[in-house]
Amino acid sequence: MSMQKNEKFAFYDVIIVGSGPAGTSAANELVKNGYKVLVIEEKKLPRYKMCSGLIMDRSQDLVLEKFGPLPPDVFSEPKALKGIYFSKEGKVLLPLPLEKPEVWNVWRSSFDYWLVKQSGADVWESHRLVGLSQTEDAVVATILDSEKKHVVINASYLIGCDGGRSTVRKLIAPAFEKKVHYLPCIQIYCTGTVDLDPAYYYMFFDSDLHSFYTWLHIKDDYIVYGINCHSTQSAQQILKESTDYLAGFFDLRIDKIEKKSGCVISDMPAKNNFFLGEKRVLLAGEAAGFVNLFGEGISPAIATGSLAGLSILSAKHSGEKVLSIYENETKNEKKLVVESWAQAGMFVKKT
Ligand SMILES: Cc1cc2nc3c(=O)[nH]c(=O)nc-3n(C[C@H](O)[C@H](O)[C@H](O)COP(=O)(O)OP(=O)(O)OC[C@H]3O[C@@H](n4cnc5c(N)ncnc54)[C@H](O)[C@@H]3O)c2cc1C
Repeated sequence: MSMQKNEKFAFYDVIIVGSGPAGTSAANELVKNGYKVLVIEEKKLPRYKMCSGLIMDRSQDLVLEKFGPLPPDVFSEPKALKGIYFSKEGKVLLPLPLEKPEVWNVWRSSFDYWLVKQSGADVWESHRLVGLSQTEDAVVATILDSEKKHVVINASYLIGCDGGRSTVRKLIAPAFEKKVHYLPCIQIYCTGTVDLDPAYYYMFFDSDLHSFYTWLHIKDDYIVYGINCHSTQSAQQILKESTDYLAGFFDLRIDKIEKKSGCVISDMPAKNNFFLGEKRVLLAGEAAGFVNLFGEGISPAIATGSLAGLSILSAKHSGEKVLSIYENETKNEKKLVVESWAQAGMFVKKT
């Protein structure tokens, strides 16, 4: 794998924007089939991704099917969680029904880095997509390199796998973008103690909490907890409320906060509002709106990234328009996401 760019104006069959599970899965399908693929990633790799790093049910099957067994160094301790618990009013209540006996617990930085290496694509890290145009038979991507110089690359297709705040989506569909709303999340990595079994992931849904839900789990030496909520204005207050709640009910004692990160998630999946692309540009993973209830986004990212890659192969053989093929192929993925969000009302309070 080439992690650096060799030629300034190389030609690629497909450019993939983003080296998360969607981008690496798309790359994997295309490289396997002899395509020349470039993955561009705005961050230096391996990159930090705000995530709990739980590889659940279907994600486990997809990882094994598409990439093979995970190497030991992607796991955090405990390597496998026994399950996920819902908690209400200070009491740990119900386990979430799972299809597999365990949930894999990984560091996203190492996991995603392994995926991109497995894909065999050329990877340009510290390169950001900033412009995009299309002709009848090509896409033209403008990329800002690590020295802030513009590089222009032509390709037959481009797949936007650049996450929830997708630049690709903003560039090709500004009108769609105006209707997308974003909800803030904050996650804390701290050292300290908490009176909860580290073999489980916990979701707290108390009526007194103003988060959609508050979560907590253990990763190596860290207690990781966080919130998602409606507005950035009140996010810090809601985090404090959850911290006090965890201290009060579960004796959370923080020695040191090692990392505090924030991000936003779009309301696209909750509103059944997907965006799959335009002409020769496809979107996959969170960029297209594929995330399940409670933010389980790795399985739909791998599934739709793979389908985007396979749709390009199919378009070449059949001569059909790639977007029509992809729209057809992703119908079931949309259905799965929509069905998962239909259960939201059972857990998450409306405001
Ligand atoms: C707090 C939190 C916890 C979560 N926990 C879990 C969990 O435990 N299990 C689970 O299944 N899901 C979880 N998710 C969801 C999951 O992290 C995402 O749904 C998943 O990473 C989406 O994959 P993706 O490949 O679509 O995008 P991403 O993984 O977001 O990858 C997008 C990549 O594109 C790059 N990029 C963005 N813009 C550009 C650009 N202009 N040019 C070049 N590169 C660019 C980014 O740097 C990034 O590397 C969680 C999400 C959050 C917020």
